[in-house]
Amino acid sequence: MNPSSSTAGASSALPGHPFVAYQGAALQVEGVALSALAAEHGTPLFVYSKAAMLAALAAYQRGFAGRHVQICYAMKANSSLGVLQVFAQAGCGFDIVSGGELERVLAAGGQASKVIFSGVGKTRREMRQALQAGIGCFNVESEAELDVLSEVALSMGLRAPVSIRVNPDVDPKTHPYISTGLKGSKFGVAHDRVVKTYQHAAKLPGIQVKGIDCHIGSQITEVAPYLDTVDKMLDFVSDIQAEGVVIDHIDFGGGLGINYHGDKPPAADDLWAQLLAKLDARGFGHKKLMIEPGRSLVGNAGLCLTEVLYLKPGEQKNFCIIDAAMNDLPRPAMYQAFHAIVPLQRDAGPRSESVYDVVGPICESGDWIGRDRTLAVQAGDQLAVLSAGAYCMSMASNYNTRGRAAELLVDGQQVHLIRERESAADQMRHERLVGG
Ligand SMILES: *Cc1c(COP(=O)(O)O)cnc(C)c1O
Repeated sequence: MNPSSSTAGASSALPGHPFVAYQGAALQVEGVALSALAAEHGTPLFVYSKAAMLAALAAYQRGFAGRHVQICYAMKANSSLGVLQVFAQAGCGFDIVSGGELERVLAAGGQASKVIFSGVGKTRREMRQALQAGIGCFNVESEAELDVLSEVALSMGLRAPVSIRVNPDVDPKTHPYISTGLKGSKFGVAHDRVVKTYQHAAKLPGIQVKGIDCHIGSQITEVAPYLDTVDKMLDFVSDIQAEGVVIDHIDFGGGLGINYHGDKPPAADDLWAQLLAKLDARGFGHKKLMIEPGRSLVGNAGLCLTEVLYLKPGEQKNFCIIDAAMNDLPRPAMYQAFHAIVPLQRDAGPRSESVYDVVGPICESGDWIGRDRTLAVQAGDQLAVLSAGAYCMSMASNYNTRGRAAELLVDGQQVHLIRERESAADQMRHERLVGG
């Protein structure tokens, strides 16, 4: 122990992670020691805090108190059944982007009537599946999709409830790969086509117009793009209703950012206080609202535990090789994203501090988890990769025939295994040898 080490018993939550704290030298989630979980379940291991998810949801619920709103968790952020179950039990609906996600919602106990179906490439088969289940709304992204959906619904003797995703042409000031509401994006119906598209939809026999939606991007940390979006959306609603087409609900999408690395996104309740003030000022405060938050509900509720396999000093770089990799944590490779990396045990004994690139075992130079990180570690130490609740497990792959990690849900003193570690046999189950 070095002299500056904290006294046993002192608890300090990590900034932006209210349910993750060092108790003395040991990192804990909701008071459960993480090194014990790593010892029992092995690494890499995802650990989620139920309290953190519900606290993130509560911020939205506070912001919308007294309003007519449906919160639809954008489940592509983390679609594990145990996570969906938390939100289903809390009354959330779900924003899905595939027929597979719909099956997950139903398996987790979610209600089909609270499901909205987004995405530019829904197949006829997925449309039939969603109509059969009785989902709440299709968020349609093109005129061509409207025509096909009308045909599919009619063939089933139904009318499909529809909202049209419009492109408000707002710059969310985030990474280009996660900006979706600018001109030139594949998402949504262009500004000048919006009213025409609604007029077309209103004439289709298999379509029932319900609402309007947008989603301008992800990891948004400023209020201004949202305020611009509200203005543009309300302009659209006025224009559409002036043509005699009634809009029942307005869906503002998701996109609110989280604190990965000193980011300062607005709190959900503060953001919505400002947006609702604008809605009220423009006379739309009575409308039914929908939102589709993903990352902001789960991102900082999860972390990934990993073990240091080897330290490899080099001439230009030192490498800290860990047992988690880009197949588990794809965001750095995909978006140059930052995840904080902290030890499970502070003050673990004599170790010298060095600057490392933290990398995984995969045979790709893109397989890095953190760059230029100052760490005092040795082989066998355990680390936590923070902010790993969103767009990690749901994007995980089997590259290099690495099984996907196990997942735990911590709920107070209870720890639930919500996903077993995937074996090589699991991965090969659907493959066949030729002539075998
Ligand atoms: C991804 C997505 C969301 C959720 O985005 P977050 O940044 O995770 O909140 C919401 N709506 C749509 C249509 C999406 O594609």
